[in-house]
Amino acid sequence: MSDANPFESLQEQVDDAGAYLDIDDDVLERLKHPERVLEVTLSVERDDGSLEQFEGFRSQFNGDRGPYKGGIRYHPNVSRDEVKALSGWMTYKCAVVDIPLGGAKGGIVVDPDELSAAELERLTRAYAAELRPLVGPDRDIPAPDVNTGQREMNWFKDTYETLERTTAPGVITGKAISSGGSEGRVEATGRSTMFAAREAFDYLDRDLTEATVAVQGYGNAGSVAARLIEELGATVVAVSDSSGGVYDPDGLDAHAVKSHKNETGTVTGYADTEELTNEELLTLDVDLLVPAALENAIDADLAEAVEADVIVETANGPLTPAADDVLTGRDVLVVPDVLANAGGVTVSYFEWVQNRQRFAWSEARVNDELESVITGAFDELVDAYKSNDLPNFRTAAYVVGIQRVADAYAEGGNWP
Ligand code: GLU
Repeated sequence: MSDANPFESLQEQVDDAGAYLDIDDDVLERLKHPERVLEVTLSVERDDGSLEQFEGFRSQFNGDRGPYKGGIRYHPNVSRDEVKALSGWMTYKCAVVDIPLGGAKGGIVVDPDELSAAELERLTRAYAAELRPLVGPDRDIPAPDVNTGQREMNWFKDTYETLERTTAPGVITGKAISSGGSEGRVEATGRSTMFAAREAFDYLDRDLTEATVAVQGYGNAGSVAARLIEELGATVVAVSDSSGGVYDPDGLDAHAVKSHKNETGTVTGYADTEELTNEELLTLDVDLLVPAALENAIDADLAEAVEADVIVETANGPLTPAADDVLTGRDVLVVPDVLANAGGVTVSYFEWVQNRQRFAWSEARVNDELESVITGAFDELVDAYKSNDLPNFRTAAYVVGIQRVADAYAEGGNWP
């Protein structure tokens, strides 16, 4: 765990890739800052009648390639700089998978476990009302992120539609199917992790069916990734959440561990397993490591102790830039977040397209189109890596993504 400032990490990643790009320094500088950040104080009535204030943000990082896009996070550690970083990562993520969207991110400083459902609804509706002038199906389209899901998206959509006196399901994605959501959206982030892992093992000419896997973080993204990677024949030997981890060298049942977590609130205590800490999980001797919790999970010191050969990033920003340098030097293949977890925003894009068409796609169509987006982006990343002789896949992803954003900016001119 590191206390690196994620916004500085993002800026360093852009600079690292900028060194290989023919882009003027002043244009590159522009691509290191959000266009605007809204900060709000939300006054929410608690169930006991008292009033409590919550701090919230929305950072719109870049809109050169389309409407701003990115999730909303509810977490006590949300900060202005974290949201700014996450909005930048969204910008380059959308560019890497070449969907016509810009990047944004929002967050509220709150521990949702301490609020009742009614309080969370009032909080979400207050936040949606504050964001109303900035969002819209052609402006900025929020989505789920850490600790938010269909329920919050439905409240947000309803608040926006009520205030605007219209129907506009495309104002937000990640909704329940009955509120205009897409088949396959819930599983999409984990599914892209699985595709990225499959492509990485293929690239290395290694057999995923013989691989052992450790997954840090067992929320929506991590648990689906574990289950789908297991379905490809790999052996998931360890998983964790914020309470700790469980380990079985013979393999866990990813689905059964998720059921245990749903019942008890944590993966710990799952039958016939050894307990281990998050740090022990991250340094286990496995073939594939999937960090799927929060940013800064692996710093330079921990990176020295990582035993995995491949890391597929499901969380946003789980490795610090210093950790990246260590892992590059040690020849560990890192498939970066901006590709490996891009399934979430890609199926959000499909959801938005369906909302505009007022037409629903089948789950098979969603999954097929997602597969071609992720595998196509993986191939482009490998091409960029090889043809520019780049140090690692992250730099390759940023070279591809930054170039696309810079092209859109240049083609649009510089007004005013
Ligand atoms: N929160 C997800 C991400 O970090 C999804 C964003 C979206 O669907 O817009 O990529």
